Amino acid sequence: MNESFHLHQLQKIDSQINHNAKRIHEIDELLNANFEVEKAKSDENEHAQIFHQTKIRLQKINTEVEAKKNKISQCESHLYSGKVKNPKELQDLQNELKSLRKFLAALEDEQLEKLINFEDSEREHQKVKETLTKEITTFETRKAMLQSEKETLIINKNRLEVEREAILTQLTKVNIMIYERLSQEKRGLAVATLENNACSACGATLTPGQRQESHSPQSIYYCPSCGRIIYGG
Ligand SMILES: [Zn+2]
Repeated sequence: MNESFHLHQLQKIDSQINHNAKRIHEIDELLNANFEVEKAKSDENEHAQIFHQTKIRLQKINTEVEAKKNKISQCESHLYSGKVKNPKELQDLQNELKSLRKFLAALEDEQLEKLINFEDSEREHQKVKETLTKEITTFETRKAMLQSEKETLIINKNRLEVEREAILTQLTKVNIMIYERLSQEKRGLAVATLENNACSACGATLTPGQRQESHSPQSIYYCPSCGRIIYGG
């Protein structure tokens, strides 16, 4: 086996290692970015507060209505007790009762409005709570899938590293250095192949003579256009 062949094998492994590492990085980012859950949590929190406020407002008006009703009841008892004889006093009591009832009617309108608000906010809160539960379940399912994928990727990574070590033993130190340098310069792709008589990396067409050279097992052939090693097979 020639050096170009082994360099090509090394490139294939390194490309897989890079691809693997990129996906592991993506998975880590996806595992940390649970935007939907965060958004649902913040919505739930907001609606819980609104619900709490409407509940307090409703309780307050309920108490006020109750107090007003008691006041009316007392006034009525007093008025119809027969103890008040003085016409002026009776008139005053009747006027007070009239005013209290008017006040009560207004309060009851307000009470109804507060009750509607309370029920609306309760429904809305329930809805966002359900959304939050759904988002958490979705995220947990996705998380389990991603973690399982990551475990497989780590196993692959370890296997590829063992394979890489084995290939390095087949190469001369000089060629390894050339490969590493090219790999750094060419964003991880040091070895190209022949594809339709052209360099698979940059697309430059090779003459029959150049193609012949890329097939040679004795020497390493470099693409005249991009400088990568071309493994002609
Ligand atoms: Zn090229």
